[in-house]
Amino acid sequence: ERERLLVYADRAAVTTDGFTVEIAANIGTPEEAEGLPGKGAEAVGLYRTEFLFMSQLEMPSEQTQYEAYRKTAEAMSGRPVIIRTLDIGGDKELPYLDLPEEMNPFLGYRAIRLCLDRRELLLTQLRAILRASAHGPLKIMFPMISGLEEWRQAKGMYEEARKQLTDEGVSMADKIELGIMIEIPSAALMADRFAKEVDFFSIGTNDLVQYTVAVDRMNEKVSYLYDYFHPAVIQLIKQVIDASNRHGKWTGMCGSMAGDPLAAPLLLGLGLHEWSMSPTAIQKVKQTITTLDRSACIALTGQILELDTPAEIRQALADFLNE
Ligand code: PEP
Ligand code: MG
Repeated sequence: ERERLLVYADRAAVTTDGFTVEIAANIGTPEEAEGLPGKGAEAVGLYRTEFLFMSQLEMPSEQTQYEAYRKTAEAMSGRPVIIRTLDIGGDKELPYLDLPEEMNPFLGYRAIRLCLDRRELLLTQLRAILRASAHGPLKIMFPMISGLEEWRQAKGMYEEARKQLTDEGVSMADKIELGIMIEIPSAALMADRFAKEVDFFSIGTNDLVQYTVAVDRMNEKVSYLYDYFHPAVIQLIKQVIDASNRHGKWTGMCGSMAGDPLAAPLLLGLGLHEWSMSPTAIQKVKQTITTLDRSACIALTGQILELDTPAEIRQALADFLNE
């Protein structure tokens, strides 16, 4: 089975009727990018930079960050890498930041909220990414965006970092795509407005599910309610992809739904452009996509949008894949 799947490593993910999607990998360290192209990853769709911060006893310097981002870009030899700015808080702690104890950490001081408050931290990270952009096509993505002001402030910080480096005579890529994660329902509902301003979206289903159905993603007691096949989650995903299409932008997905072969017919039917997943999921998902007919997936998706429960949706997808 493993050898059979390896065949898909250097093939594109194209449906039987010729629709191609981009298959990317989620990584947490530059080392994980090494050898990724040989495993079938056409890009890095999510580099979770918090692991760089969590692996140190103090804040990583601009130079340390630059080296990590550059190493990742070089390992991907010309393929795109989406670097997510620091997503700390929630379940992830950083001792040296001295974060306050919170009643509801997942609803609190986390990710972009923290970064817009501690501007030096974000500015340093953006400078490091911009410097590394001279070594490969990097893109930047901001996590946990809930409204337009946050995105505009983050973009303003990016422009400030760029201006500083220009004044210092540092070389960087001329154009860097800037995107946001869609992982809070308010952002999904406003996708049409965001799509006018951002270059891309990446849907984080891990958090989007948690915030849509009000189920803590770490709580086993209520995990039976946590399901990316919930009709409300699917509605939000559809809304986001449709909004990006209307504005000539693209949508990726880096939550674990993208790595689930059962979701493939639905995500193809919805028109998802880029799929980012754990490297170990790539070959199976690629194989599944190459067996599917996109027009049949579109028809199936139309039916799925009428279904009422996650169980019915899972069943419809399983039946379709078994046909
Ligand atoms: C997500 O929320 O789906 C996601 C990809 O980000 P993380 O799992 O790092 O919160
Ligand atoms: Mg998330």
